[in-house]
Order: sequence, then structure tokens, then C-alpha cells
Amino acid sequence: MVNVKELQKKLQEIAKMPREEQAKAADMLTEEEIEFIQKQQGASGEKPQCIFCKIAAHEIPAKVVYEDDFIMAFLDINPVNPGHTLVIPKEHYEVLPQVPPDRAALIMNTVRILSGAVFEAVDAQGATIMQNNGAVAGQAVPHVHFHVIPRFEGDKVKIDMKPIKLEEKQFEEIQKKIIEKARTKAEKKVVYDISGKPIEEKKEEKKPESTKKEKLIKIKSRIP
Ligand SMILES: [Zn+2]
Repeated sequence: MVNVKELQKKLQEIAKMPREEQAKAADMLTEEEIEFIQKQQGASGEKPQCIFCKIAAHEIPAKVVYEDDFIMAFLDINPVNPGHTLVIPKEHYEVLPQVPPDRAALIMNTVRILSGAVFEAVDAQGATIMQNNGAVAGQAVPHVHFHVIPRFEGDKVKIDMKPIKLEEKQFEEIQKKIIEKARTKAEKKVVYDISGKPIEEKKEEKKPESTKKEKLIKIKSRIP
């Protein structure tokens, strides 16, 4: 067991040292203490602070309604209607574009299943599926989540979508850009690491076309 008070003392001592010496000061800590600090801070620094990661790890209790190896669904603690459910990937991804394609498919399928289950469980008349990316969109927890919101006649849920006016030219420009971007993203095989950071796939080194020629030259050069 780590003596937290003793560890704090050590850390305070290390903090007082000049920067160059601080790196070496890690020797002052036992392996157990280092592990303890890492657990506290988290390997990536932010992930363990994430409330949804903690729910996924069963560190914070939630009213779980579905769980498998990759996905968890639980009742929203601030429901806008009875049955309001959140579906999350267990791995930490901040926004939807970071989610690897296979995981995205699993999440969507769970949303599909739950939209039906929730609908029947609370005897709803409709359902709204919502997913916000970024604070500007109203994403309160920076861990990808889908809202499954059962809807009832005359409920108080307001999703205010007021149309704006766009010129024909603007429509066309935006359409063109989105087509391009979507095609690139669909074609690009991007592998993601556990934190959602894309790892560029290594391009297969194409053997230069001159290989055959070079071989021939090499063989030829051996011939006296
Ligand atoms: Zn998280």
C-alpha cells in the first residue's frame, strides 16, 4: 500500500528541485508510488477524469440498460423525458469523427436496438435520436454519446430547428465540398489508437519499376 502522506511529501520535495534534477528525482519514488501517481493522473492525463469513462469502467454507478464489450447504455441522469437513454462507446472518443468505423457501426446498431426497446418500455409515441459534437452544439460531456429520447404527445422537449436562407450558388458550393471531403474520408483507411488519435496507415512501399531493369544491369555487370 502506498503511504499517500509520505508520497505527497516526496512530491513536494521534488517540486522544489530545479527542473533538470526533477527528472532524476523519479528514483526517489518506488514503483508502487509511480503506478499510484499514474493511476491518479491517468495514462493520457484526461481520460480517467471523464465521467462517461468512469461509468463505462463501473467506477461511477449508473442505471445501465445495456452493456457489451464495447458499448454501454444507461439512463440519462438529467432526462428530458422518462426513458431518456445515452449510448456510449466504452473507449474514450471525444467526437464522432474520431470513432473508428467498426466501433461506429456497433454504436449505431445499439442505438437502433435501444430506440425500439425504450420506445416500447415507456409506451412512447415517437423517438428523437440526437448526437452533439462540440460544446457549441451542446455537447455537455466530451465523450461521444447518442441520446435516445422517447417522445410523447405534448411533451416539453424542444428541438428548435429554424431554417435559414441559402442562395442556389451556396448550396452548390457546399454540396461540392462535402462530396469531396466525404469521398476522401471514405476512401482513406485511417487506423485510430485507443484515444481516438488517427494513426496514418503506413503506405506500402512500392518497389520502383526500375527493379527489373536494375536486376538486369546487375546481372549484366557480372558478365565480363
Ligand atoms: Zn471518456
